[in-house]
Amino acid sequence: MPEESLKDKIVIAEDDPITQLLLKSTLEKWGFEPITLQDGKEALELIKASEDPRIVLLDWLMPGMDGIDIVKKLRREREDIPHYVIMLTSKNEKKDVIYALEAGADDFLSKPFDTEELKARIKVGLRLVGLHLQLKKAIKSANKLADFIAHYDQTTGLPNRVLFTENIEKVVNDGYSAALMQVNIDRFKRINQAKGLELGDLLLTYFGARLQECFEEEAVVARIAADEFGILIPFGGNCTYTTDEIINFLYAKAQRIHTRMAEPFPIDKGVTVSVSIGAAPVTCEIALEPEEFLRRVDLALRKAKALGGNQTVIHDLKMEKEVRQRYQIEKDLAKAVSQGQLRLFLQAQVDSHGRFHGAEALVRWFHPEQGLISPGLFIPVAEESGLVIQIGKWVLEGVCDLLRANSDETFSISVNISPKQFAREDFVEHVLSVVMDRSVPPKRIILEVTEGLLINDMKDVAKKMRTLSEAGFRFSIDDFGTGYSSLSYLKSLPISEIKIDRTFIKGLPGDEDSGAIVQAIFLMAEALGLKVVAEGVETQDQAVFLNKWGEVIHQGFLFSKPAPADEVIKQWLRKIQ
Ligand code: C2E
Ligand code: MG
Ligand code: MG
Repeated sequence: MPEESLKDKIVIAEDDPITQLLLKSTLEKWGFEPITLQDGKEALELIKASEDPRIVLLDWLMPGMDGIDIVKKLRREREDIPHYVIMLTSKNEKKDVIYALEAGADDFLSKPFDTEELKARIKVGLRLVGLHLQLKKAIKSANKLADFIAHYDQTTGLPNRVLFTENIEKVVNDGYSAALMQVNIDRFKRINQAKGLELGDLLLTYFGARLQECFEEEAVVARIAADEFGILIPFGGNCTYTTDEIINFLYAKAQRIHTRMAEPFPIDKGVTVSVSIGAAPVTCEIALEPEEFLRRVDLALRKAKALGGNQTVIHDLKMEKEVRQRYQIEKDLAKAVSQGQLRLFLQAQVDSHGRFHGAEALVRWFHPEQGLISPGLFIPVAEESGLVIQIGKWVLEGVCDLLRANSDETFSISVNISPKQFAREDFVEHVLSVVMDRSVPPKRIILEVTEGLLINDMKDVAKKMRTLSEAGFRFSIDDFGTGYSSLSYLKSLPISEIKIDRTFIKGLPGDEDSGAIVQAIFLMAEALGLKVVAEGVETQDQAVFLNKWGEVIHQGFLFSKPAPADEVIKQWLRKIQ
């Protein structure tokens, strides 16, 4: 009895009715369900049409087309299917056998045939045909697996970016509206680094599952990058939703995600995370490429991250304008340094009696078309692109040139040092060589760093600071109070000054919280022997409040705005004369 899948795989092409009947009944006795044909052409068409290999008992001499022509044509036209052809003939000389085999037959059986021999030869055919069918099945499941790997994420089992993009494409092609989101786990990298990849993967799996739970309606939740998930909620039907309605829907859904994700995950005694969400409506009025929609949500997500994370930002056209402006700045910034478009400004710092104490160097960019661009706009771009290294070098050299030209040793200048600049391996050597080349005493330079710097490689930061401090440079903590770092560094690092951030000065003297913070800073500075500089002093009341609390240096519009370095120095020289 043949295997179920091979039962119907035999074709008898034989015009002699007696031989045909004999073959058919013998095969049926063995459990086969053979197809019988008398005409050569018909037999060829039937076999050719089959996608599975057949065992063909093929008569050599037949009307329509003889067996030799059939097998030749079959081999030519369906070389992809290994049909097993047994040539039946009363010719049984060796040369006939060779001729049939060379034409493409696999085997040869002489008529009148012996049933035992027929059985043995069919067995060989069955083995080969069966093997091919097995192979086909294996390929099919391998393809299925490959398809799964290509479209699904192995860790979470969720659709991956490819399948997610295909889903967006379908929505767009069908003319539907949809809500699109991109969710990112804040500081996921740190969890991975602290707890290992295995726990990170586990968190991603729980996260993906919880994200799916947030949506009762038909939503595609996908993992589209390491710690980024995409959500697509197609609205189907006609364009029944306005953009505003989709935006409201997105905010509501995003809120639900923020709330759900803030609950502890059942791993490592309860891990909690916050998320950043970028979202965008997919409206049926504008059929954009799926990649464009993905770019939009990504843009919104980057903005949510830049704003500190743990929030939702919905894409809008203003964002596009900002991106274009940023792109333009980045493109033009390289020229700014080489083509001398940067200017060095100074902002004076005064003591409690309004006497000139020193100044902070603040760079300005005079763009040939856009005019003055504030450092608040281009320094972050320069920081990202690495150009801040060149800018910082230019500023430091400019400051040293000024100090050399004005040899009054009591006058010092503060220079802002970006974290990227500080992190450079050759930072210390660079700073030392600039002052040495110009014979400027390092004590006339205060290097302003931010607290953000201190969460980086503390060992490296401390080493560099100590070397420079031993050489005579002073360090100031800029924007003090806005960073997240612990305060212990104030004791362990060679810091001589803190600059209270403008945000705390702004509310003085009325705002109680700001007042309390400022007072606490003064107390701490006194205990640690640190000089205090107040940034952004704009009113007399603020100055009076600050003076009441202790020894303080003022820097703010009340006393002077940043101005071209030469002007500030001239003014200062006039005052001290
Ligand atoms: P910063 O170092 O905290 O500089 C103080 C900023 O506060 C300056 O803004 C200054 O103009 C502004 N400011 C001072 N007094 C007042 C005031 O009374 N009211 C108000 N509203 N603002 C006041 P600026 O010049 O726009 O610089 C912004 C930031 O750009 C700087 O903040 C600093 O982080 C960065 N920056 C400027 N120059 C350089 C530089 O040469 N290198 C690096 N790495 N960063 C720089
Ligand atoms: Mg500063
Ligand atoms: Mg500051």
